[in-house]
Amino acid sequence: MGNYQNVTAGRPAGVEKKKAYLVGAGIASLAAAAYLIRDGHMAGGQITILEQLDIAGGSLDGSGNATDGYLVRGGREMEEHYECTWDLFSRVPSIIDPERTVLEEIREINLIDPNEATNRIINNCGVKDPNTSLGLSHHNVRELTKLSLATEQELGATTVEEYFSPSFLETYMWCYWRSMFAFQTWHSVVEMRRYMQRFMHLLPGMSLLKDILFTKYNQYQSLALPLQTWLEAEGVVFDLGTQVTDLDIEIVNAVKTVTGIHLLRNGVAETIPTTADDLVFVTNGSMTENSTVGSLGEPAILNREAGGCWSLWRSIAAKDDAFGRPDVFCSDIDKTKWLSFTITAKGSPMADLLSKITGRDPHSGKGVTGCIMTIRDSSWLMSATCSRQPHYVDQPDDVLVIWAYGLFPDNVGDFVHKKMSDCNGEELLSELLHHWGAEDQIPEIMKTVKVIPCMMPYITSQFMPRVKGDRPEVVPVGSRNLAFLGQFAEMPDDCVFTVEYSVRSAMTAVFTLLALDKTPPEVYPSKYDVRVVAKAAETMYDGHVPAERLISHFLKDTSLEGLI
Ligand SMILES: Cc1cc2nc3c(=O)[nH]c(=O)nc-3n(C[C@H](O)[C@H](O)[C@H](O)COP(=O)(O)OP(=O)(O)OC[C@H]3O[C@@H](n4cnc5c(N)ncnc54)[C@H](O)[C@@H]3O)c2cc1C
Repeated sequence: MGNYQNVTAGRPAGVEKKKAYLVGAGIASLAAAAYLIRDGHMAGGQITILEQLDIAGGSLDGSGNATDGYLVRGGREMEEHYECTWDLFSRVPSIIDPERTVLEEIREINLIDPNEATNRIINNCGVKDPNTSLGLSHHNVRELTKLSLATEQELGATTVEEYFSPSFLETYMWCYWRSMFAFQTWHSVVEMRRYMQRFMHLLPGMSLLKDILFTKYNQYQSLALPLQTWLEAEGVVFDLGTQVTDLDIEIVNAVKTVTGIHLLRNGVAETIPTTADDLVFVTNGSMTENSTVGSLGEPAILNREAGGCWSLWRSIAAKDDAFGRPDVFCSDIDKTKWLSFTITAKGSPMADLLSKITGRDPHSGKGVTGCIMTIRDSSWLMSATCSRQPHYVDQPDDVLVIWAYGLFPDNVGDFVHKKMSDCNGEELLSELLHHWGAEDQIPEIMKTVKVIPCMMPYITSQFMPRVKGDRPEVVPVGSRNLAFLGQFAEMPDDCVFTVEYSVRSAMTAVFTLLALDKTPPEVYPSKYDVRVVAKAAETMYDGHVPAERLISHFLKDTSLEGLI
């Protein structure tokens, strides 16, 4: 966003008569509440957030303690051009130092400690793979270029494996890609195309995970909690433990108005009447719906029941085609699930091992593994990361928190001969330690750890192949007071499975429904920056763009010399 646009919008007429209801308390709803206050000039007391869980933050979690074990379902890789997210957090005070904003806190720590992977790929029980090339043949580069030039309409519901030749799926690029972004071969190639274009500027640093930004602590404490704290101070009502079951939507000549919100609060049914003056925002779908946890001795049991967010979206979708098709995303759990586990390790055994593997001191307050270390020959395709410590505000000095995951939970382990999804925390960690070449240290390390497995049935549901209309528009055509937020609302060009997408949906929804004199910042247009495109091409060709010398020869002594 240029500085000219970096203003607060003018006060919309009649805003004092409105009430806003937000279904879900993930970052999308929290952001929408913030923009209703900031740009919509709404008083916090006019805004109610209805959340089925007893905690806000949604997928941005960070729970537990050093004694029982910490739990992060995920760790968020971010980057400089999360334009909406950084706009939001440029005005939210940090909970650690309220004199500084969350953005200042994040920027400061990443300046001091920029990310760089020490062991991006590991093979053969702990052997570091020194490769930094994407390993693409000319044919593979051509496939990627053609993908970039194709339209979403042409690609339709094509999957990654339908689009690419088998040789691409053997490349380092695919290994880096799928472990970093959690893409599977059966996922949408359209989403892959969006990632390629949106994050093209990150391609040169991809093999070492350079230019990736991290929050100071886990993302619940670094992002969700400061925002919630600010919203509460503004008077926003958090109605936790309340599940929204349906909406009454009046549809007359394609004009759609929410007239009532049905909910269950502590098991008691209630209806909130709404008028065309009120605003209703629904986060339609959640990648962490029905997550289950296990322990050191117990696996996390897969929950196949239909979750609250999907049944609500199904009820809404049945009322009009403009409200999308939830089953495209949530009806094939075996294609959307995977498992993560969080290791809480006390004392020196784990610290010494990490220090040996990475060459970095895990207690230095700086990044340890520098984002994920992927085990390329793991049948579960495991990755693990030890972010800069402490990862929790209250984390004791002698404790480390490590997050790991595997993309193939139905596969049997290489050392623990069980399906990953059937393993308890001890077995998961044992498999990881074997792959780290630390087999002989397993008994000692096990005495000092808690491991919490977490099964997420819908974690990659947003990547399922889809076509136009499967995701509803943020503000569907004809809607007077209903907007959809989050990962399952359609916005051109931006990428799902990101915090940024959710925040962008919030901005779009608020600015559109209130008809503000402001638009969200453009999705970072790296694909139009000739410098970025040139660097990306150079990276794909390992530094030797074909015919480069020939082109230079022909342009010599012309006005284009040096320009191209
Ligand atoms: C393992 C993992 C790794 C990730 N990695 C990255 C990353 O590297 N980079 C990145 O940018 N992002 C990453 N993300 C994605 C990012 O965390 C999410 O995109 C974002 O948090 C989604 O926010 P949301 O508000 O849209 O949805 P959610 O956070 O899912 O919130 C939806 C909320 O709505 C509630 N709800 C749903 N239905 C109802 C109902 N009927 N009634 C009441 N409440 C309801 C749910 O309980 C939930 O709290 C990752 C996420 C995970 C889990």
